[in-house]
Amino acid sequence: MEPGYSDIEACAIDPAAPLVLVDVDEVLAQFMRGFGVFIGRHGFELRVDRFALFQNIYRPGEVEHLDLIAGKALFDDFFRDGADDLPPAEGAADALATLSTRAGVVILTNAPEHGRLARARWLKTHGFDYPLVINSGPKGPAAAELVARTTGRAVFIDDLLPQLDSVAASAPGVTCFQMVSDERLRPLAPSAPDRHARIDHWPHLRTAIEASLFK
Ligand SMILES: [Mg+2]
Repeated sequence: MEPGYSDIEACAIDPAAPLVLVDVDEVLAQFMRGFGVFIGRHGFELRVDRFALFQNIYRPGEVEHLDLIAGKALFDDFFRDGADDLPPAEGAADALATLSTRAGVVILTNAPEHGRLARARWLKTHGFDYPLVINSGPKGPAAAELVARTTGRAVFIDDLLPQLDSVAASAPGVTCFQMVSDERLRPLAPSAPDRHARIDHWPHLRTAIEASLFK
């Protein structure tokens, strides 16, 4: 898919309110948990021994990971059919519900276009009924366009360091937070706490976001 994004025009943003931009996978959703269950039902296993995706898929008993093309096919299927296997991140819905009483919330997710419907339905089912922007590639340009529509402060939350750096570069006024919901990934995830605060626990993250938005 070409880098880019869609649905930004349809996003209603209060021109004076603070804004929370938030990723889905490993932030609102426990992606690795869900993907592991999904591929397990297809006869494969996920071994979380590095911060990667396709390199972690194995046939049971084998030492070489599944080839990347087959891994990508499972990934694509998961986005279309795997929503039922995807658990929400603990505390995320409550934290966003509280934040949304004083700030706008927009979900900024990288997902294949064919996963849009399943993703929108999953978000609604789990209490994340906020405007959704599907992005491809670095999130900085989409984040910059969204935050330009408000004079309020803005924050961005993602698990991936390159996305945090992308938003920091394109929208330098935005405060970026790193959150990794999967306990197994936490020690493996690259971080840069000097640039972006890393908080893996939603109640604590909510407090830090409030301190940044409402100071
Ligand atoms: Mg993510």
